[in-house]
Amino acid sequence: MAKKYIFITGGVVSSLGKGITSASLAYLLMSHGLNVSIVKIDPYLNVDPGTMNPYQHGEVYVLDDGSETDLDLGHYERFTGLTLSKKNNFTTGQVYFTVISKERHGDYLGKTVQIIPHITNEIKKRIKEAGKNKDVLIVEIGGTIGDIEGLPFLEAIRQMGYNESRENCLYVHLTLVPYIKTAGEIKTKPTQHSVKELQSIGISPDIIVCRSERRLSSEAKEKIAMFCNVEREAVITALDVGTVYEVPLAFKKENFDKLVIQKLSLDIKKDSDLDNWMNMVNAIKKPKDAVKIAFVGKYIGLKESYKSLIESFVHAGADLDLRVDLKWIESEELEFEGYEDILSGVDGILVPGGFGSRGIEGKINAIRYARENKVPFLGICLGMQTAVVEFARNVADMKGAHSEEFDNNTPYKVIHLARKWQKEDEIITRDESSDKGGTMRLGSYTCVIKEGTLAHRIYKKGRVDERHRHRYEFNNSYKEELEKYGLVVSGMSPDKEFVEIVELKDHPFFIAVQFHPEFKSRPLKPHPVIRMLVQKSYESKRLKKRD
Ligand code: GLN
Repeated sequence: MAKKYIFITGGVVSSLGKGITSASLAYLLMSHGLNVSIVKIDPYLNVDPGTMNPYQHGEVYVLDDGSETDLDLGHYERFTGLTLSKKNNFTTGQVYFTVISKERHGDYLGKTVQIIPHITNEIKKRIKEAGKNKDVLIVEIGGTIGDIEGLPFLEAIRQMGYNESRENCLYVHLTLVPYIKTAGEIKTKPTQHSVKELQSIGISPDIIVCRSERRLSSEAKEKIAMFCNVEREAVITALDVGTVYEVPLAFKKENFDKLVIQKLSLDIKKDSDLDNWMNMVNAIKKPKDAVKIAFVGKYIGLKESYKSLIESFVHAGADLDLRVDLKWIESEELEFEGYEDILSGVDGILVPGGFGSRGIEGKINAIRYARENKVPFLGICLGMQTAVVEFARNVADMKGAHSEEFDNNTPYKVIHLARKWQKEDEIITRDESSDKGGTMRLGSYTCVIKEGTLAHRIYKKGRVDERHRHRYEFNNSYKEELEKYGLVVSGMSPDKEFVEIVELKDHPFFIAVQFHPEFKSRPLKPHPVIRMLVQKSYESKRLKKRD
């Protein structure tokens, strides 16, 4: 059990940045030496977001333990540097699944199983579990106040205020305070309504965080405080900022951390030192130069689908004092003659992960272009598999080579389905017969890196752990043949069964990885592979300029 709980709810509209608020607060409390963790509760019925369309839900963020989670977990890990587990994210689907399984098992024999107390008890149990041995647990409730789906969670956290005693629980409500241009003023009414709604279910917020494009005047704060029944100091402005990494600094200025520490009587260990963080933010805001990298994807209509990857470029850029301009290219656009024109002028090319055959040939064209024109290239997951297909077809002369995911009849299945991956302790096993999950290799696995390779120069060590989310893999029957033609296999699983990294010699930078480096990139610790892509792309830009 955690000693103290902070519950974060959101009102008025969605997408206010509850995840960033929770992550920033966790970061600030940790900077005072406190042992903090976060849990995100998603009020949808899916057991996890693994099966959801990235167009709807954004990225599926993968943890070390293989759980497929909400992208807010990515914010948490990036801001706090913590390594989280499946305990840090749960959904309505999981809660009901557990309760219904127990009911079938006879655990509630004789009783009527109800939302209160059975569902709410299960929610409380999971929250406590996530907070085990922590000084503070931050609990983010997904959705917006007023949603039907969120009610059992709100009831559970209301009860916690009673069970755990009120002084150990803090309710923070994030709302929108819009600025109405024609009236030239900000409006507090939506906040008042949203707080009223919360109060009607028995929760009185202790702190109100007001997302706004204008700093709130003291009169506005006074008004919100009075109508919402909170102290004036407990109304905080969350001003729109240039980069999400500035949010903890902005909160610090508003004394958000002090307020929380005082309200929960937290025993802090030290004053926070945010210098390194501040330098990183400054580097993001005022880079000395820029570099342009083509991002050849298929979900580019919703950039949230590539959240971690986008952030990893921000981290690498900050470290190199560069702004990374991503040129978003829908891979299908590269399937027509003249596609080279779309790629000309970029300093580097990235082909990220993905599922489904749409746009595959465009990706292959992009990779061919990078290989032939010596443009720095990084392929990730599907990007790696496509790079192997491209190499087989165009260098090793295997006409029609493909991945089994897209073509089962090719004479050369250079990427194939070799085995079924299943973590034994997967929370809830998916239907094995379905091709929509249950057979993916998920989470952290060790990769052994060959000395003398580009991968070894990047990582500067022989073993690394990286996160995975894929079903298909390199077909070892073609390994020797492809190596003969110059493909370098520079990373493999410890048992040498599984190809993790391929690269090319005689190229300024061409590397492709089966795992997802973006899930391990942190603002103060950019991922070395992505950092090197940015660095090499910049070098190539400088060389081009000199020519
Ligand atoms: N679709 C490919 C596979 O299942 C790649 C997955 C990915 O890029 N994440 O192996």
